This record gives sequence, C-alpha cells and structure tokens, in this order.
Amino acid sequence: MYKAPRGTQDILPPDQPHWQWIRGWIQELCPLYGYGRIDKPLFEPTELFTRGVGESTEVVEKQMYTFQDKGGSSLTLLPEATAPVMRTYLEHGMHVLPQPVKLYAVLPIFRHDRPQAGRYRQFSQLNCEAIGEADPAVDAESIALAWRFFHGLGLSQLSLQLNSIGDATCRPGYLEALVAHYRANEDEICDECRERMVKNPMRLLDCKRRRCQPVIDGSPKSAELLCGPCDEHFQELRRHLDRLGLNYHLNHRLARGLDYYTRTVFEIWAPGIGAQSALLGGGRYDGLAEVLGGQPTPGVGFAAGLERTVLALKTQEAEPPASSPSGAYLAYLGDDEKAEAFSLAERLREAGIPALLGFGNRSLKAQMREADRSGAAHALIVGSRERESGMVTVRDLATGAEVPVPQEEVVRWLRERASALAS
Ligand code: AMP
Repeated sequence: MYKAPRGTQDILPPDQPHWQWIRGWIQELCPLYGYGRIDKPLFEPTELFTRGVGESTEVVEKQMYTFQDKGGSSLTLLPEATAPVMRTYLEHGMHVLPQPVKLYAVLPIFRHDRPQAGRYRQFSQLNCEAIGEADPAVDAESIALAWRFFHGLGLSQLSLQLNSIGDATCRPGYLEALVAHYRANEDEICDECRERMVKNPMRLLDCKRRRCQPVIDGSPKSAELLCGPCDEHFQELRRHLDRLGLNYHLNHRLARGLDYYTRTVFEIWAPGIGAQSALLGGGRYDGLAEVLGGQPTPGVGFAAGLERTVLALKTQEAEPPASSPSGAYLAYLGDDEKAEAFSLAERLREAGIPALLGFGNRSLKAQMREADRSGAAHALIVGSRERESGMVTVRDLATGAEVPVPQEEVVRWLRERASALAS
C-alpha cells in the first residue's frame, strides 16, 4: 500500500470548507489593502535561495528539496516565497510602477524538516509582500493586514511579537556584543551554539536547549543597540501600532531564521495548538533586492502558515459559515427512467443547480438512503408513472414532503424554492 510521503497530507472533501473559507477570505482581504494576486512557479534556481536566504540558514543548509533537472540545472522546490517574489518584482521591472508594489500569493512550501503536529514537509503559505517603500507605515500596514487576516476568521487570544534587528550599519555592532557575551559564557552553552557563534550568530537566539536559555536571556538586546535611523524607524512603527490599538510584545529573542531580514521582525502566535505555535512570521528585508542583483529596494512582508491556521481554527472551534443543503439527488426505477434522470441531471447542472445521480442500478430504497446522506436539499424521483406523464416527484429531504412537478418546470421550481429558503 502506498502512503502519502512523510510530512505531507491529503486534504479531503470534509476538510475543504475550512480551506475554502480561508482562501475566500484571502481573496477578499488582500485587495482591501491594495495587494494584487500573483501565481508563481513552484521551483526556482537553487542559487536564488543560497544567495537570497543565506547559505548558513537552517532552511538552506538542511531543509531544501534540491534536484538536478535533465538539462543539468540545479533547481529547488520553494522553501520560502519572499526571495521568489522579489525575483518576480525585479524580473518584471516593477520598480517603474507606483511604489510600494503589493503582491500576494498562496503557495505550497517544501522543507525537509522533522514532521510533527503543525510541522510538515509540504505546507501552504499566504505570502504578502510590499516592495519599494521604506516608510515604517508600510511595516505597520503589513502587520495590520496580518492581524486582520486571523481576526477576520474569528481567531482570538493571539499574540503579536515584535523586534528590530537593525541594518548593515548597526547589526555588526550588535553581533559583536552578542558574540562577546557568548564568549564570556562559552562553558554554559551547547556545542551547536558554539558553532553558531562563528557561522551565524543571529541563530544563537533560536536555540531551544535548556542550558542555553540563561545565556540567551542575558544577551544584549538588538533593539537597544540600533543606529539612529533604525531606532527612528522602530519608534515610528511602534507609534503607528499604538495608534491602531495593536498590542504587541517586545520580544528581544525574535530574530527570524533567514539572513535577509533588516530592522522590523514580527510573528503572530496562537496558544493551544501545540509546540508549533507561530501562525505567521515576517519582517523587513531592505537588502534582499541587492543580494539578488537588483537596485537597492526596500521591502516588508510576511508568510502565514495555512495548515496551522486551520489547526488554530479547529482548536478554537471557529467554524466556516455553514452551508445549507442544496441541489438535487436524482433517483430512478428502471433503465429508461435512469436515462431520463441522467438528462434531467444535466439540465439542472446547465442551470447551475448541483445534481447527483444514483449509479449502479441500486434499489430505490438504497438510492433514497444515499440521497439523505448526500447533502442535497431535494430528491427528484423518476418512476415509470412520472416518465410517462413528463413529471417528476420532488421530495424535500428535510421534511419528507413530496409533490409532483412537471419536468419542464423543475428548474424554475427548485430555484424558487432555493430563493424562498435564502430569504
Ligand atoms: P517561517 O518563515 O519559517 O517563520 O514560516 C512562516 C509560517 O509558515 C510559520 O509561522 C508557520 O505558520 C508556517 N510554517 C513554517 N514551517 C512550517 C512547517 N514545516 N509546517 C507547517 N507550517 C509551517
């Protein structure tokens, strides 16, 4: 028996209402903030990630699905979407458009991580990127959009985590102070952190080992070592958030795992969905365009994990708007009636009414049992009497009431019934 590859999952019809709800909300919400939808290839040249995301990040170092195609090119399934969206912006010369250019995409993301609840090897992200404007108001707008995304779905008790990690001017000083602190505490930390100290000190703050926690807690704080312009940017962002009434927790340990972040970094967490409580992560990436060979171009954005969003919705018992039974199930008695029921089903579909046909020449009783389980509002029964008289028996599956309706009239009858129920 084949099984879905480890860390992947099938999303079956009963789970689709949550997904359709989320996707529908994304399409409604993003345009409210001026974001235009893009669709993108699911793989890119590997170099886009090694350069854009950074060689020594966990994602690039350990988690990418990289392969060589038949032409010998090294390609990688998207392990994140910000560098690819920036590639889109640069390739299509979007700098000539009014800035910032705001783009959103829902994409599958692939990471070879250790699977557990809320952590998969293929998962979906909503990515929202605002490219071409350095104003901290854009950071605030991006955070407001992120927050509204979850609140609009009815999620509560979320927490917004915020930090600033500075830029090329002040980051080196911060990292020097961080490494000096670690050197002074070298005996207290794990082997991996000893390596991180040299290879990627920003990742020191991510360490989950218990022995490293006191050292992390005593670390210098990036937000307290910002240069003048970064500090101003951060203060202005905080003023915007305060004015919007968006409460945040200043989290000095929040660094985000990818090299491209500058200044603002943020996450949104949900309680009670297990160890993987981050629903969304984002930040500013003013240096990314240059690393990818473009002109200096500021940008800010986020990625929300949709599987974790579904998990949080289910945990908080936030249900998609209920869909009431609709459409018709066509049941029949013999072969001639089956042919007639089939034609009638096609006529209903042509008129936009969902129609299901019983297959396999089952007994009428078995067909009616199926009709009851099908989610249809009505059963249309074609027996020999009905066929001869050009009628159909319409049975209301909620009440059991039956009425004869001329076949010619049945589309109009069902439509009237549906609009009467809706009003
Ligand atoms: P990141 O850029 O890694 O912080 O990812 C952004 C969001 O994507 C996270 O906040 C999660 O909601 C989601 N996410 C990241 N990795 C995974 C994973 N392995 N499985 C499911 N969702 C994930």
